[in-house]
Amino acid sequence: MSNAADFPAEGGCTCGAVRFRMLTSPLFVHCCHCTWCQRETGASFALNAMIESNRVETLRGEVEVVDTPSNSGKGQRISRCPKCRIAVWSNYAGAGDKLRFIRVGTLDHPERCPPDIHIFTSTKQPWVVLPEGAPAVTEYYKSAEYWPAESLARRKALF
Ligand SMILES: [Zn+2]
Ligand SMILES: [Zn+2]
Repeated sequence: MSNAADFPAEGGCTCGAVRFRMLTSPLFVHCCHCTWCQRETGASFALNAMIESNRVETLRGEVEVVDTPSNSGKGQRISRCPKCRIAVWSNYAGAGDKLRFIRVGTLDHPERCPPDIHIFTSTKQPWVVLPEGAPAVTEYYKSAEYWPAESLARRKALF
């Protein structure tokens, strides 16, 4: 779990044109091992911190939004630095603009957002070995079964 005392936390793209701040801890952090995330990162999983959009402040620059196909078929909108094209967050069609999936690797201190759950482990690369006891599901999951009560209340307040 993220620690509330570690926030606000700042992040940004590689060239520095886009900087942002997460005002509070995220709702939940997904480590996604699906093949779509593997392709998008060019690596073996994506680490996304889910947070209310109104808890993210842009400190510098304006992101460029790129419509991108997604696993669900409904698409995702990836926000990128217009200069270096690094992706800083996504919005998925399901949750709309109210929820952002911050790319944890763009934070100045990514260690503040460790994964709360591993998803789509059915396509996890075999050499990625999960810690003993880490919450993990072969595909997706029901938030009521895994999210802390505080995060469920925050999401309810949002929608
Ligand atoms: Zn940049
Ligand atoms: Zn994924």
